[in-house]
Amino acid sequence: MHGTVIRNTGNSYVVRLDDGRELECKVKGNFRLRGIRSTSPVAVGDRVTVAASAVRGAADAAAHGDAVHYITEIGERRNYIVRKASNLSKQSHILAANVDLAVLVVTVARPETSTTFVDRFLASAEAYRVPVVLAFNKADEFSADERDTTGYLMALYREVGYDCHLVSARTGYGLDALGQAMAGRVCLLAGHSGVGKSTLLNRLVPGAGARTAEISQVHGTGMHTTTFSELYDLPGEAGGAVIDIPGIKGFGTFDMEPAEVAHYFRDIFALSADCRFNNCTHTREPGCAVLGALEEHRLAPSRYASYLSMLDDKEEGKYRSAF
Ligand code: ZN
Repeated sequence: MHGTVIRNTGNSYVVRLDDGRELECKVKGNFRLRGIRSTSPVAVGDRVTVAASAVRGAADAAAHGDAVHYITEIGERRNYIVRKASNLSKQSHILAANVDLAVLVVTVARPETSTTFVDRFLASAEAYRVPVVLAFNKADEFSADERDTTGYLMALYREVGYDCHLVSARTGYGLDALGQAMAGRVCLLAGHSGVGKSTLLNRLVPGAGARTAEISQVHGTGMHTTTFSELYDLPGEAGGAVIDIPGIKGFGTFDMEPAEVAHYFRDIFALSADCRFNNCTHTREPGCAVLGALEEHRLAPSRYASYLSMLDDKEEGKYRSAF
């Protein structure tokens, strides 16, 4: 039986079979993904093969009142997006697989999404060849300063080459345009906790909240907090889906050589064509076009700072939980 993983609770997975049935599945203990050390080998969005266990499933089957199903194989991934699992961890956490688009929800305040976090997310998505759009949320509650900051950031990221949307998940402002960008595609919905991801999800997929509330833990704040990843079909004729993942605090990058880092910053990469040395690290070399652009205010200092922070990771093997 073949299907798509639509929910990952950490202990088990829900697979939607190609005939539409949904099955709760487990992963066998000895199951390992080739070449990937991950806290969880299977990700939402994965195409998988499922088999019912005939041998050791009997006791479990009695407990569950049903046959026990196992994921026995993961199909080749078109792409996936990964972050480091935890502090100093060598393990990766696959956020989602086979995605057409990542929507990064950003707020300039309550909570603040730092440009470092945005840039790390963008660089990782570039590395895994996942296109990103930025959704600047909470437009309905901006102060004058916050409106200015958001305007500046949207202009900055558009200049770098990213589609930016100003939205209010609460009022629905800007969601038609964002919905059009997402229609027909499998979209990862990412961002810090508290940026309004759940409200946005409920706007995009009416009824998603009821499902979330059923299985979510109720947090100390009284808010429903997603603690698992789940795929929801987008309504509308164009189809597509949203993969909602738990809020991300930090974004340690993975599998990136120091010399590669600049490749994933579109603006820095474009400038680097004019550096005197082709192995330029853009940190101190004479004739560096990146440093030149920084000095002449043609490169945003925040982008360069993010680039340096990622280079620093590579050199010292650090994980920066603050970002
Ligand atoms: Zn350079």
